[in-house]
Amino acid sequence: MNLVTCIGCGGLFPEMDGPTHRYMESSPGCWAAYGDVLAREYSDPAYAKTHRLTVDAYAVQHPGRPSPQSIQSVALHLTRLCLLPECGLEMSRANDAMLKATESKKKFVWLLPPPTRGAVTVADVHEANNLQEHVTRVRQWAESAWQAWSLHHSQIRAWLPAGFDSR
Ligand SMILES: [Zn+2]
Repeated sequence: MNLVTCIGCGGLFPEMDGPTHRYMESSPGCWAAYGDVLAREYSDPAYAKTHRLTVDAYAVQHPGRPSPQSIQSVALHLTRLCLLPECGLEMSRANDAMLKATESKKKFVWLLPPPTRGAVTVADVHEANNLQEHVTRVRQWAESAWQAWSLHHSQIRAWLPAGFDSR
């Protein structure tokens, strides 16, 4: 089986034909692995707890090209990531912050994606053998994806709604 490097996250995935997302640009193998991970999270409430982190990490490792949707997607998922791995904020509160940030989306700008997007990718989560591994790897993945965007952390913090300063 040939492995190819994903154009988004840089992870290695089986070479295949298949669909990819409209603006979260990836290799088909990466998109298929993400689909498997989402299916796991949708089918079991214990796995579902990591779902938002999974969505955030995937989105920011696959920023694609500048478009109204990609600009908003990257900004909002980075906003939520900003509040999670760094300070352990409760997911519900981080989600509130993201929703509040949505209301002010007009000020979002395209952030030049980092050349490398993190050492941990959906490939690592895809290979998890049990719940504990899944949860641990999703957290590592989210942290890795967030750190990859460190050049833009101050801009992302500036997008946090009032009352949600992560420091
Ligand atoms: Zn990828």
